[in-house]
Amino acid sequence: MATAKIKIAARLRPRLGGELVDDSVKVEHPSNETGESSSSGSSGSIISVTNPRDPTQVFKFPFSSCYDQSATQEEIFQNDVQPMIDVVYSGVTVTIFAYGVTSSGKTHTMQGTKSDPGVIPRVIRAMFDKKSTIHEHKVSLLVSYMEIYKDEVYDLLVTRENAPKLPVRENDAGMVFVANLTSEPISSIEEFDVIYNRATKHRSVGSTNLNHASSRSHAVLTIEVRMSDPVADRSLIGKINLVDLAGSENNKLTGNDASRMAESSAINKSLSVLGQVVHALNQGASRIPYRNSKLTRILQDALGGSSVGLLICNLAPGIKFRQDTLNTLNFAVRTK
Ligand code: ADP
Ligand code: MG
Repeated sequence: MATAKIKIAARLRPRLGGELVDDSVKVEHPSNETGESSSSGSSGSIISVTNPRDPTQVFKFPFSSCYDQSATQEEIFQNDVQPMIDVVYSGVTVTIFAYGVTSSGKTHTMQGTKSDPGVIPRVIRAMFDKKSTIHEHKVSLLVSYMEIYKDEVYDLLVTRENAPKLPVRENDAGMVFVANLTSEPISSIEEFDVIYNRATKHRSVGSTNLNHASSRSHAVLTIEVRMSDPVADRSLIGKINLVDLAGSENNKLTGNDASRMAESSAINKSLSVLGQVVHALNQGASRIPYRNSKLTRILQDALGGSSVGLLICNLAPGIKFRQDTLNTLNFAVRTK
C-alpha cells in the first residue's frame, strides 16, 4: 500500500452544534508496541462502522492515513502534504483532492479559516519557503484557478461576465490542456491572497448568476513552479493541483428540476469516473479511462506518468449522514 500512486486518506470532522452523532462510526488507530495508541495520521488506521441493523456486524475500512475529530490542520499537513512540496520542486505534478458530501469538511480541509488554515494556505507558505532556499536557479511561481460546472470549464481568475466556457485541447505531443486559462505570477503570499480572494468571490457570484451553489462544482487551484537553469538553458516545471470536489451526496434527492438533474448527472458521472481513474492508476492498469469525464481529462497529465496524489475522503459524523458515510467509504475502497 505504501507505493500507491494516489494515497487514500480519511478525515472525520468534529460534531457541529446540535448535530446528533452516529456512534456506529469510529476511527481506530493501531496500538504500538508499548500499547499506546498512535497519532491520528499513522498508517494502517481503520474506520469501523457498525451495521445499525445488526450490531454484531462491523464493517472495517482501512486507510493509509486516518484522521479523527481531534486531528489538526497542522497534523494533516505535516503527515500527508509537506512531503509533497519537495516532490513538486523536483519537477513532478502532485494532486490533492477533497472528496465527500456537502458539509463533510472538504472546504475546511482544503481552505480552512483565517484562524485555522487548511491545505491551500499551508501549501502556499511551504512553496514560498522552499523557493527562498533555492539560489542556483531562477524560480517563479504561478497560479491558475478553474471551476468545472456541468462538465464545462470556467476561469476563476477572470470576472464571471467575461468568463467563457474554456475549451479542452490536446497538443501535438498528446498533452491535454485547458486553452486560454489565465496563469498569474505570484511573488508573495500576500499577492496570492489577493488573487485567491478575488477568485473565490467570482465563484460565489457565479453561484447566484448561474443558480448553482459552489458545492455543485469542482474547483481546481494550481500552483506551478518554474525553475530555469541559466547554464543548461532549460527549465524544470512542477505543479500542485488542489481540488475541492463537488459534493458527493446522492444527487437523486434533488428533485426533478431539469437544470438540477443535469448538474446531478454531471457530478455523479465525474466522481464515479474519478474513482475508476484512481483505481486504474493504483492498480497500474494500462488503460486509464481519463476521457470519460472533463475533470479526469483535464487532469490526465497531472495524474499519469510519474505523478503522485492524495485523495482525502471527508466524513460527517451526524446520524443523518450514515448512508453518505457508507457511500464515501465504499468509494474509497473501490479506488485502491
Ligand atoms: P464541505 O466543503 O464539504 O461542504 P465545509 O468545509 O463547509 O464542508 O464544512 C461544513 C462545516 O463544518 C463548516 O461550518 C466548517 O467550518 C465545519 N468543519 C468542517 N470540518 C471541520 C473541522 N475539522 N473542525 C472544525 N470545523 C469543521
Ligand atoms: Mg465546500
